[in-house]
Formats: sequence, structure tokens, C-alpha cells
Amino acid sequence: MAFGCAYSVYGGSGLPPDTVFYLGRDTFRTPVYAFYGLQKGPVMVLDAGIHGDEVAGQYACDSLVANISIQKGTLYIIPRTNREACFDTIRFVNRDLNRTFPGDTCWLDYEYTLSYMFMQLIDSLRPNLVINLHEARAHTRTMTTKNKNDKAFGNTLIYVGETKDDILAGAQYQINRYLSDPDEKFKLHDFPFMAAGSLDNMYYRLGIKSFTVETWRGYDLPFRVCMQTAISLEFMRQLGIGFTINGQQ
Ligand SMILES: [Zn+2]
Repeated sequence: MAFGCAYSVYGGSGLPPDTVFYLGRDTFRTPVYAFYGLQKGPVMVLDAGIHGDEVAGQYACDSLVANISIQKGTLYIIPRTNREACFDTIRFVNRDLNRTFPGDTCWLDYEYTLSYMFMQLIDSLRPNLVINLHEARAHTRTMTTKNKNDKAFGNTLIYVGETKDDILAGAQYQINRYLSDPDEKFKLHDFPFMAAGSLDNMYYRLGIKSFTVETWRGYDLPFRVCMQTAISLEFMRQLGIGFTINGQQ
């Protein structure tokens, strides 16, 4: 069952979430699905839809919500962080959410408020790891030192500062075992400091480790969803969360 793809979003066999609560408010509020294992253990937040037009991670989250059961540790899944942008399949409503951290409630812009609420939520949950599911328009093979702004991040796992660790390396190793084409293999990318980005704010403000998954949008959507699902499960395994997916370990 390469990539753990042999299950569907609908009719899943996982236990229903223990709790559903909400990030944001009014028309923008978006569900956070919480799964608590009977055994205490690490805590992970998995989010997608920070950019609304990057759909593979959103579908991967839907699939996990329907199919996962947690035995040890805690998992929170936010399939559509920027709900309004996700519904319209657009990158953002007012401005790029991943350039608005740590946010501010005084701003009229929707994304500034949302990133503030997101920071508050993560700070209250105090997870050991936050994984953000994104997608990239360009492949890393097109990246040069001169076109850093082209977002040629497919397929990469992005970290900041000194956050590179065994969990990241382990997840990279495991996912790449299933990918035979060298172009598909995930590379690690050290993202330069970005004061308004989610990774730097998680790590430097909250002291919480966070990595970003980027799949290349040139691949077929089902394959991207499979990769996003598989890498999410690998991060959970590496962190020490105990789970079954579709009834299997
Ligand atoms: Zn993105």
C-alpha cells in the first residue's frame, strides 16, 4: 500500500474525531478536528489550505480525518486554514496569509486576523510539531540561486534556522523510499528568515518546531494527495504518535 492511498475520503473506517472546534469566526471559521489517544504522547498539528489554491493537502487532510484512529498522543487536523480562499480555490482573500504572521486583530484584512488567531490556537495547544501542507507551482530542478522568488519548491520539505532534526530527516528518508523517480524525491530546503512567515513565527516566537511540505503541482492530483497523506503519516510516526489508518498500522 504505497503511500497509504488505498482508502477513500468517504466511508472511512477511522473513529470519528473526539472533538471538533473552530479556528476563526463568522463566515471564516474553519473546523479543527481533534483526535486524542488513550495513551499520552506527543502532540502534532497538521494544517492545509494556508493557500487556498493548493488543494492536495486539503484532500489529504479530509482523507486522514475519515480514516485515522489515534492510540497514542494527540493529533489536530485543520484541512482548510484559510477557509474562504479554499472555498474559492484562490491563494488568498486580501493578502498572502503566509506573509501576515504573527497577525494582528487591529488590521481590517482578513488574513492578518486569521494568522493572529492561528498563532493563539497553536500557543494554546502547545504541540511538539506543526506540519503545514503546501503545493509548489515550480519544480526544484528549475531553481537557481537567482530565482529564489519563483517558489520552485516541488518536492521539498522546508525548515528554518536550526530546526533541521532527526524527525525531518527520518520523514524524508521514509517517503523517498517509495519514490523511484529522482525528480519525485523530497529534498530539504533551508528557507531564509522571513519575519512574517509561519515557520519562523512558530519557532522563534512560540518555540514550536514546524516544517512545510511542498508537492509539485505538475504531478497528477491523486499522486499529490497520496504523497501529502504519506508524508503526514511519516511525520506522525517519526514523532511517536501511535495510530492506525483504515484499520492498519
Ligand atoms: Zn503555499
